Amino acid sequence: MVHIEKNYNNPPAELINSKWDNVKKSVLVEKNNHNAQSECYRDTTLEALTNLYSNKCACCERSRGEELQIDHYRPKKARNNKTNTEYNHSGYYWLTYEWSNLIPLCSSCNQAKSNFFPLQDNTKRISEHTHLKANNIVLLQDCEKPLFVNPEIDKLPEQHFLYLPNGKVEGRTPEGVAMVKFYNMNSRPKIRDRKKILSEYTHEIKEAIDRFYKSTDTNKKHRFEGSLETTFSKIKRKMNKKCELSQLHFFINQYFEVFIANKFPKEWKAQITDSFLEFKSHKV
Ligand SMILES: [Zn+2]
Repeated sequence: MVHIEKNYNNPPAELINSKWDNVKKSVLVEKNNHNAQSECYRDTTLEALTNLYSNKCACCERSRGEELQIDHYRPKKARNNKTNTEYNHSGYYWLTYEWSNLIPLCSSCNQAKSNFFPLQDNTKRISEHTHLKANNIVLLQDCEKPLFVNPEIDKLPEQHFLYLPNGKVEGRTPEGVAMVKFYNMNSRPKIRDRKKILSEYTHEIKEAIDRFYKSTDTNKKHRFEGSLETTFSKIKRKMNKKCELSQLHFFINQYFEVFIANKFPKEWKAQITDSFLEFKSHKV
């Protein structure tokens, strides 16, 4: 998860089109019985969110393009689980059509999150009446202290997560722990996609080593360093937060030895790590 700058004062034109005025009024009357009219926030709104989030899921950072779905950060529907009441709440129906409450998620994160919205302290949950008096999402965040990080409000969402060389993610804060659990951040496909990135880099370096052994060229050492640099440059480039899994790349860059170099025999491990550190020192 990375921070996204969203202008709350500039929603997509379609979302604030006056043709939806009656729908928006009806939600305040029908409350939890309101059937959300998704055509109000589909199409151009989804397109705007997809562009803003660089085609990525706001949580797992996997590129999903047209498969992205609009999630209501604060769930529009109540949660009334009779057997497990711990996470029940009465829903945030009045935020159904709020630009500030709409976030793009992949179907996997969206499905796992469902209508969960745990707070640090459940007694701090805000009602429609209290909220509409202030009508300010940042204030709402401060009052409720949700356990779900909001990438548009939290300036450093990455501080909540620790990426591991085995493809898993761990929470470093109560918010991170809650998100790993409720968004199912360690589902098999998500781990697989992270491991795929790691094995691509390992594979590239392994091929460079193979070429080095096979080559009779006197310049082979130089060529080997050039191949490594191509891979290192890719890692550095993908740390850009517009890129897929940028946070994973941040961790690869920070802990290159444990993420990549450890996969190689001792005689290569030190050399690859040194080359990487030298690359980093020259290319900052
Ligand atoms: Zn996702």
